[in-house]
Formats: sequence, structure tokens, C-alpha cells
Amino acid sequence: MELCCPGWSWRKLCAVKDKLKQGYCGDWWLTHGGIYIIKAGYTWLGTSHNNVNWNPFVWNRLSPPKHCFIGWLVVHGRLLIRDRLHKMHICEDIACCICGNQDESHAHLFFECAYSRECLSLINASLKINVPTGNVVQWWLKLRMRSILRKQMIGAVIQALVYRLWDMHNKCRVEGVLMRPSNLILLVQQDIRLRLQGLNSCRKISGLYKAWI
Ligand SMILES: [Zn+2]
Repeated sequence: MELCCPGWSWRKLCAVKDKLKQGYCGDWWLTHGGIYIIKAGYTWLGTSHNNVNWNPFVWNRLSPPKHCFIGWLVVHGRLLIRDRLHKMHICEDIACCICGNQDESHAHLFFECAYSRECLSLINASLKINVPTGNVVQWWLKLRMRSILRKQMIGAVIQALVYRLWDMHNKCRVEGVLMRPSNLILLVQQDIRLRLQGLNSCRKISGLYKAWI
């Protein structure tokens, strides 16, 4: 009988199982506070992980979950962008499928590409902010604003832009279509408006930001 090599997911599950087994076999749970609960198990498994400072940016309550998820993949550099696909021997061409001028990477797409830079400059102009083309998360973390809600909204706008750029990139790659930057910004505005309406937070936003959505 031919034996198959186990996949990555299965190997990871087995590794977690072996680690949890230590907790049970050595009565670790009993000697450290009693019965097993999921929270304690999660903390126990995650003790070797370093804390990250991008949590408030990625897991922003004003961002819809799908935006947070794409933002989380971006901070880990895990989107299936052409430079990664090339390393996996999945694609030969690594030129950006939007501009075609440079290699496609996370840094290029967010926001060195001429197309994404133009989208970002439209956001900057309309909200009177100055989001840079690199180190966006660090820029946001250092941003000092009187209103926490406004700061959260700026973070959500950037994350919505990242989501829409990724969506546009995929459409461009598959269908060969590219939307005007101004139309893409309309989608970003719509995403933020719907999210704020869903959270009933529209009335708390005022001035320029309210007018924008
Ligand atoms: Zn490009």
C-alpha cells in the first residue's frame, strides 16, 4: 500500500496535539488552576508569540470583517501577490498586473504603484490628511487626533482602500479591467458609509468626515 506524505495542515494539527498532550499527561492543567478551559489552552499555546503593535489598526471596529482579514494578511505579507506566486513556482511573470512597470509585491501594491498612489492621493486630498506611501500602519499608530472616532475612521478608510485595491488587482488580473481611481474611491466611501450606518455611528461623525461619507 502506498503511503501519502501528510499535508502542511495535518502536520500542524499533529504538532498542536502533541503540545496539548503535555498539558494533559503531566497534569499541567490540574497543577496550574484546575480544569482545562479554551482560553487557558489558547494562552498556553501562544506564550511563545511576540506581541504586535498593529492590532488596533487591523482589528479596527469601524472596518468590516472582510477588510480586517485582508489587512491582517497584508501585515503578514501573505496575499497571493505575484512575487510570492513566483517563489512558489506558480507564475513566471512578476510584473505588476495593474501598471506593468515594476515587480508586484506588497510594498509595490500598497502604495508604490502609480495607480494605488493616485487613489491614496485622492483620499489624502479629500480628508485633508497626509498618509504616506510606505509605513502606513506606523504612521497611523503615531497619529495624534482629538477624536478617537476620527482616528479610527482614517484607519478604516486606509484599510478599505487596501481591500478595494486588492479586489481591483484581482479583477485586473482575471478580467483585464481597471476602474478609474475616482470610481474606486467611491467604493471606499460606500464601504465606510455602510459600516458606520450599521454601527449607528454616523451621527457621531461631523464636519468634513461626515460630508465625505
Ligand atoms: Zn503597479
